[in-house]
Amino acid sequence: MSPDADAVGSSVALRNTILDFGGTATIVLPDEYPEFISWMSPDIEILKANTDIEKVEKVVSEADVIFLLDYNNLSRVGVVLGSLIEKSYAVKILIDHHQQPDEFDYVFSDTRASSTCEMIFDLIEKVNYLNHLDTLGAEAIYAGIMTDTGNFRFNSTSQRTHEVAAKLLNHGVVPDKIYHLIHDQNSVDRLKLLGFVIENRMKYYKALNTICFYLTLQDKKDFNFKKGDSEGFVNYGLSVRGVVFSVFFSEDEKLVKMSFRSKGNFNVNQFARTHFSGGGHFNAAGGRSLDSIDDTVFNFSKLITTYKEPLTNVKIYNK
Ligand code: 5GP
Ligand code: MN
Repeated sequence: MSPDADAVGSSVALRNTILDFGGTATIVLPDEYPEFISWMSPDIEILKANTDIEKVEKVVSEADVIFLLDYNNLSRVGVVLGSLIEKSYAVKILIDHHQQPDEFDYVFSDTRASSTCEMIFDLIEKVNYLNHLDTLGAEAIYAGIMTDTGNFRFNSTSQRTHEVAAKLLNHGVVPDKIYHLIHDQNSVDRLKLLGFVIENRMKYYKALNTICFYLTLQDKKDFNFKKGDSEGFVNYGLSVRGVVFSVFFSEDEKLVKMSFRSKGNFNVNQFARTHFSGGGHFNAAGGRSLDSIDDTVFNFSKLITTYKEPLTNVKIYNK
C-alpha cells in the first residue's frame, strides 16, 4: 500500500526490460502513488487495485509470472490485491530488500541492498540488457535508489550503490534533475505543517534518546493535508544530537500509521513486529495501532521505558 519511488521505479524498469525481451507486462499497484513520481510512467497504464479492480482481476488471473517488487509479504499490498495474487496460478518471483520475506516460488531477497531498484539494476546487468536501458528507465531506478537511501546517506548506501548510480549517469541521469523532480515539489502548506509538527507535536524523551512526532486528523484538515505531505518528517528526529530512535504517528480514519527510524544497533524491524503488527528494515520500519492517537502516544511513551537499556547503549559515531 502507498507505493514509493523504489516500488514504482523498480516496476517501471523491470517492465521496460520485459518488453524489450519481447514479452508483455502490466504494472499493478494496490493504490495511488504520490504525484511527485508520476513522471516515471508518462505513457504506461498503471493499474491500481482500489480503482481498476476488473482490469486487475483479469491481468492477475491471466499472468504467467508475477513479480513481487519491494515488499516482503502479501499483507503489504492489502487484502484485495493480496488475495488475487494468492489465488493465481502464476509463478511468483519476489525481488525485495525488506527483512524476513515470506516464501514464494522464487525469493530474491537481499536485506543489504539499498533498494529494490538496485537489485533490478543488477538483474538487468546480469542478463546483459543494460544497453537497452533507456533514460527514463535509468531515471526511475536512480530515483528509487536516491529516495530509499535518503539521498545516499543511510547505512544501506554501499560501494555498489554508488557504482550503480555512476553507471546510471552514463544512461542519461542528471542527479539534480531527479532530486528536483522528487524533493522540490512541496506545497507551502506542507512546509508550514512541518513547522507546526516540530513546534507543537513533538515529544523529546531525553533520557531514552528518543523523539516522537504525531499528527491528528484535525491537524491534517487544518493544513490541507495531501498524501505524502508528512513523508520524511520522521527523519528530523534523528538529526538531534544523541537521538537514536525517532517515530512518527499519523492518525487515519481507522488506524494510526506509525513510522520508526533508528541509528546503530537498535532494531526497529523487531520493535515494529513485536508491538505494532509491522516490520521493514533494521533501521527503518512501519507499523500500526488501533488505539486513539492520544492513547497511542501515551502507550508508546510507557513502552519505551522498557527499552531504556538498548536505547542508551547504541553506539553512534563521534569524532
Ligand atoms: P515508512 O515509515 O516509510 O512507511 O516505512 C518504512 C519501511 O518499513 C518501508 O520500507 C516499508 O516498506 C516498511 N513498512 C512500513 N509499514 C510496514 C508494515 O506494516 N509491515 C511491514 N512488514 N513493513 C512495513
Ligand atoms: Mn524499497
